[in-house]
Formats: sequence, structure tokens, C-alpha cells
Amino acid sequence: MPLTLSDPTLLKHQAYINGEWVDADDGATFAVTNPATGEVITEIARVGAAETARAIAAADTAMADWKKVPAKARAQVLRKWFDLMMEHQEDLAQLMTAEQGKVIAESRGEIAYGAAFIEWFGEEAKRIDGDVIPGPSSDKRIVCIKQPVGVVAAITPWNFPNAMIARKAAPALAAGCSIVIKPASETPLSALAMAELAERAGVPAGVVNVVAGSASKIGAEITSNPTVRKLTFTGSTPIGKMLVEQCAPTMKKTSMELGGNAPFIVFDDADIDSAITGAMISKYRNAGQTCVCSNRIFVQDGVYDEFVAKFVKATAELTVGNGADDGVVIGPLVTEKAMNDVDKLVQESIAQGAQVAAGGSAHSLGGSFYQPTVLTEVTSDMAVFRNEIFGPVSPVVRFSTEEEVIAMANDTEFGLASYFYTRDIGRVWRIAEALDYGIVGINEGIISNEMAPFGGVKESGSGREGSKYGIDDYVEIKYMLMGGL
Ligand code: ADP
Repeated sequence: MPLTLSDPTLLKHQAYINGEWVDADDGATFAVTNPATGEVITEIARVGAAETARAIAAADTAMADWKKVPAKARAQVLRKWFDLMMEHQEDLAQLMTAEQGKVIAESRGEIAYGAAFIEWFGEEAKRIDGDVIPGPSSDKRIVCIKQPVGVVAAITPWNFPNAMIARKAAPALAAGCSIVIKPASETPLSALAMAELAERAGVPAGVVNVVAGSASKIGAEITSNPTVRKLTFTGSTPIGKMLVEQCAPTMKKTSMELGGNAPFIVFDDADIDSAITGAMISKYRNAGQTCVCSNRIFVQDGVYDEFVAKFVKATAELTVGNGADDGVVIGPLVTEKAMNDVDKLVQESIAQGAQVAAGGSAHSLGGSFYQPTVLTEVTSDMAVFRNEIFGPVSPVVRFSTEEEVIAMANDTEFGLASYFYTRDIGRVWRIAEALDYGIVGINEGIISNEMAPFGGVKESGSGREGSKYGIDDYVEIKYMLMGGL
């Protein structure tokens, strides 16, 4: 079925540089495909280093004026951008489901979620306060102001094609920075549509730029160009580490939202039905393709049988299909390669002794569809325990004591999201403080919103997105010593 939008001008085919829609210098293009059908949605400009350098130069020029725009006026532009995103929510959601595969209800939800960051940071623009600090002697005072960090580059993934950009562009613009965005090649259409709406909202030419194409060439230009002062990245840990290394010679600031290996812990005293609801949503949202998806489900002895029986039943009832169709709750994985990577982890773990309680292989729909899967008898040496799965696969691990489960939960290089279910207030504090994670969901399976600081510890990265802290990644503190008073 062809994609029909009520505003067809939101479907873009070119890069957006300095307020203009442009082709690649060499005229190169690449195809954007629908993972549910394999159909090509459109071809778009495939840019490289030279176009990226021009986008960075344009961002630099534009920032000189943008940073001087009063905070209240910047806030009004962001507010307008938010309004336009919500006005076009349905078109943006249709575009997203077409290029990414997630079910349409989730796409609608993501547009609202992404827009909420734009609304939030517009409000925060007016609260980038400094301090006056007592001086070291009576004739001196220390004054701190916060200034925009400089030209920002954002490299974003395909799993949240809108929100991962909104979470970066909104605080950057609020702080007075300009931005060059490189979206994932699987999902550039959402990014380009956002740029179109930013322009309509009154974002001046050059303040927002979008370049899609060769990741290595665009990435190399972004990381080596001294004009870029900050790189904000969401994606895999190996690429994040490489980008940090590439940023070192020019000493850019970096924010890294990388992989996760989230534990989801169910204690004997948990409300089991509520834990099932939380596990289903935190595991299977976006077909398991989020960095905060539950990756290992730990269940205590006393409730193990009950939880597993209910969880397996609920998993087996999930409807898999084209995300655009009503009633579907699990769409395809983003590519066949992604599906094969998930299957490899599952088959390796089965060979290592995991038992299949539901699913266990590719879906009969073919393509990149995968069966919602539950594996039991999982141990800490197995592939599904150690790796971020990024698919609808639930490894279940049995445990007996708090000490044992904390040790297993923390036995990973990652530290992004974690979840646990208990009704005991002492245990709530003990476990929450003992988990080496940036985010803890307590009796909740959905943890992200614009008011909260999202981010990880250990190899899950650095920096926080959202909340009053989210602006900190986009400002520098300047200290002025005022003497002779
Ligand atoms: P994922 O597993 O989510 O695809 P990646 O880290 O591969 O995670 O991709 C996240 C983003 O990083 C995408 O925009 C991708 O194009 C980009 N990317 C991948 N390789 C590179 C690279 N060598 N340099 C810069 N960006 C890259």
C-alpha cells in the first residue's frame, strides 16, 4: 500500500542544509524501504563529507545570531515546533511506521513523546540561570553564566527516528546552539520531516541541518571538524566508543546514550499481574528494539512458576504483523540483518542449554518478522544474558536471594535501565540503591518522559537527556571574577 500523507510535502528526498533542500554533490541517492513489505518508499540524497562540512559552516554562521535571540523568543519558536509536530502527528506517525516498522499506535505515541521534549526544553530555555557566589575577599564576587556550548552534531539511531532527534535538538536550540543531525540511514524520513516543520516554526536557516548518507564519511567530518564543539550520540556501544576516540583530538564534549542490558526483577512479594503488565510493555515495545527494553527477567523462587506461566501465555498471544494494520502489537524488526542477529543469539543460547517456552525462531510471515520468544533455564554465561538482544526475546532466570539477584543484575558492562517489582519499602530502597544503573523503574515498566533525566552509567554512556539536567549537556559555565567592588 503506498504511503499517503495528508500533507505530502512532509515526505522529503533531499538533505536540509542552511535552510535549503539540496541533492548530494555527486547526485548519489539511497533507498528507504518499508521493513514490513520490502517496498521502497523513496530514494533520498546520499551526502558525504563535503556537504557535511557545509552544514557545519552554516550552523556556525547561524549560531552567531541564534544565541543572541532572547530566551523567550527561542522558547516561542520551540513551542511552535511542538505545536506543528502535534498538528501533523498522524502524518509523522505514518511516515515512521513505513520506514521503521513499529506499530502505528507506538508511532503516534513516539511523536507525542518527541514533541514533549521540544515543549519542555522551550520552557527550560527561560531557566538557564547562573549564580552569584561569595568572593574570596570582601571586594570580590564570583558570577557564573551559562553559554551555549557551540555547534552541536547529533548522530541518531533508527529505533526512535523522531524522539532521539527531539531529545537532542530541543535542548541544543533552547541553549542557543545550532545543530547538524545525521539520522540513521534506515529512518531518515522522520528526521527530514522534522526539519521541514522546524523551518515552518521559524527556526532560522542554518540552525537545524539534516544530512543523511554515508555514516563513516559524515561521522568522520563531524568528529574531526573543529567547529563542532559537541557530539551527542545515541546508538550502539562499539560505535559510541569509536566516536569518542575520534572526538578526542579536537576535545569535543560528548553525550553518549549507548546500549543496555536491563534486568527486570520480580520478587516473591510482587503484585504478579502488575509485574506481567510491566514486563510485557518493557520487553515487547517496539518489538524489543529499545535500549531500555528488559533484557533479562529474574524471577524469585516463590513466584517463578506462576510468573512464567502467565508471561508465556501473554507472549504467545501477541499479534505479529505489519505495524500499519489494526490490532498488530509486534511489527517486523528493522532489517533482515537485525532479525538474523537476534536469531543467532537465540540459537546460541539454546545450544548452551536454554529452554524454549514460546517462539524460538523466525516468524512464518518471513522477511524480518520474529516470533515473540521466551527462553527459560537461562544462565549468566549464555549469549542472551550477556548481549543486548534488540528483539522480542525474553530470557528468564530463576533466583533465590536479594544478594544473588543484585550480583547477577550488575554482572554486565552496561548500566542504562533496570526494573524491579516488590511491595516491601525496605527492599525498594535496598535494591534501588544497589543497582548499578542510571534508571530504575520500581513497580513500573515504562520509565521515560521529558521530565526525567534519561541516561546510563558504565559502558551505557554519559550525559542525561530530558529534565532540568538535560540542558547541562549543551551549555558551558563561564565564571567571571568581579573585583574592585
Ligand atoms: P544501531 O545498532 O542502533 O544501528 P549504530 O551505532 O550502528 O546502532 O547506529 C547508530 C547511528 O550511528 C546511526 O545513525 C548510524 O548510521 C551511525 N553510525 C554507524 N556507524 C558509524 C560511523 N562509523 N561513524 C559515524 N556514525 C555511524
